[in-house]
Amino acid sequence: MPARKIIVIGSGFGGLGSAVRLQTKGYQVELVEARDKLGGRAYVYEQDGFKFDAGPTVITAPFMIDDLFTGAGRKTADYVRIVPVDPFYRIEFHDGRSFSYGGDERETERRVAEFSPQDVEGYRAMIRATKAIFAKGFTELSDRPFLKFGDMMKVAPDLIRLQSYKTVYQFVSGYIKDDLLRRVFSFHPLLVGGNPFQTTSIYALIHHLEREWGVHYAMGGTGAVVNGLGRLFHELGGEVRLNAPVKRILTADGAASGVVLESGEQILADAVVSNADIANTYRLMLPPGERRRNSNRHLEKMRYSMSLFVIYFGTRKQYPNLAHHTIILCERYRGLLDEIFNTKTLPEDFSVYLHRPSATDPTMAPPGNDCFYVLIPVPNQQSGIDWKTQAKPFRDRVMKFLDEQYMPGLLENLATERCFTPLDFETTLRSYAGAAFSFEPIFRQSAWFRPHNESEDIRHLYFAGAGTHPGAGVPGVLSSAKIVEKLICERLPN
Ligand SMILES: Cc1cc2nc3c(=O)[nH]c(=O)nc-3n(C[C@H](O)[C@H](O)[C@H](O)COP(=O)(O)OP(=O)(O)OC[C@H]3O[C@@H](n4cnc5c(N)ncnc54)[C@H](O)[C@@H]3O)c2cc1C
Repeated sequence: MPARKIIVIGSGFGGLGSAVRLQTKGYQVELVEARDKLGGRAYVYEQDGFKFDAGPTVITAPFMIDDLFTGAGRKTADYVRIVPVDPFYRIEFHDGRSFSYGGDERETERRVAEFSPQDVEGYRAMIRATKAIFAKGFTELSDRPFLKFGDMMKVAPDLIRLQSYKTVYQFVSGYIKDDLLRRVFSFHPLLVGGNPFQTTSIYALIHHLEREWGVHYAMGGTGAVVNGLGRLFHELGGEVRLNAPVKRILTADGAASGVVLESGEQILADAVVSNADIANTYRLMLPPGERRRNSNRHLEKMRYSMSLFVIYFGTRKQYPNLAHHTIILCERYRGLLDEIFNTKTLPEDFSVYLHRPSATDPTMAPPGNDCFYVLIPVPNQQSGIDWKTQAKPFRDRVMKFLDEQYMPGLLENLATERCFTPLDFETTLRSYAGAAFSFEPIFRQSAWFRPHNESEDIRHLYFAGAGTHPGAGVPGVLSSAKIVEKLICERLPN
């Protein structure tokens, strides 16, 4: 019997992870990507001697990347070198104070004591509580499919016990009194597209994830992980097609049977895994008559994550005082997030994440230069903001702020620059509403309530990526790839 053929649409980490896993299991996998390179949000821009990772920069749970290599009988180190980064984050506040934390628990406690002596006991208690959430939310549930309502009911008592009905901010505030420390230990949902004031406290596990395995960086950038997985997939016999956007998913008797590319070419298969945006997979690739559950109306009613405005830039001088990962928080927290997520207006002020990979890896910039990106959460495209006219003034405000407050001489020393706006998320990455992280990770869009890893409408159509269970972030989408592997091996054994 020839191996069963699987098409994977999209080469983000969820798509690459699924492709490698299924090819390892003996399926014949063809990975079909719209863009000219692999990686999806982890695309790499190279310009004027600088290398910019477009998206993910923080690698938590590196064992999930190891799993893909070791599962195929290889060693990660033969493909990519992943190193720890310390401190994990340096957080700068509007009042001139800062707080950094890393892998040394005692050191973090010492810093909490220095910053807010009254919060040491609360911090310890919070860490104990996140451990329980982590054991349930990550270890037990992140790579388990939630296909039936019964699956949700089985875990409901645990979710109630862990107070998942609380938001991350409420959870943290139950332990920490200092207003700024509350921000330090509650900003994590933003890393996966959630508002700390709306996201279920299950996401408090991200801080525990950092403590458990550390924060890592791939030498050569996250793009080196993408290249390593691409090479592995090729060595295993997988096929890749770039510049090949999928127009439609073919179905026969209610089951996915292949895809039609925008070029008109048809590729037949036994199953299709979509790593493309889920709302757009349903809305654009399948006719309304074939999807009872995932109608346009249903998809339009869901809540989508915020978007991002990202400026990639290189400087002719270096800024050795800046850490690898810096978060600069403005004075407002709840109000700012409310404007971004709910009223969807472009705020006057902003909080940013500043990435300086050349702090760890000088190869990202020419000698004596520095490589950066600055990322600012902004409303998604449901805001109606016209980025064609707003991008330039917004960019100017952000760069002026950095120049004046944190990076003296920045504007005179810019060597190269490019921007990625919510409009690019919508067009280049084909994401519904230009959402940077797909569906917002709120309780009523998590686990069984999130679009399932196996389509409820079309048999043999599976989903891996940010929009399905468990959700966005590299560990999340790699977990979804593991679920898809399990489901396909069960449903369509080779
Ligand atoms: C700026 C930024 C920074 C981030 N930082 C971090 C971080 O530090 N750590 C972390 O863990 N996570 C981070 N994240 C989140 C993480 O990057 C994403 O959740 C994850 O990479 C998404 O992977 P995915 O599998 O959903 O696929 P995506 O990366 O979304 O890729 C989907 C792919 O599908 C392709 N596609 C779409 N439509 C079609 C079509 N019709 N035909 C063919 N192909 C198609 C797209 O071109 C794309 O390549 C960040 C995200 C962003 C945007």
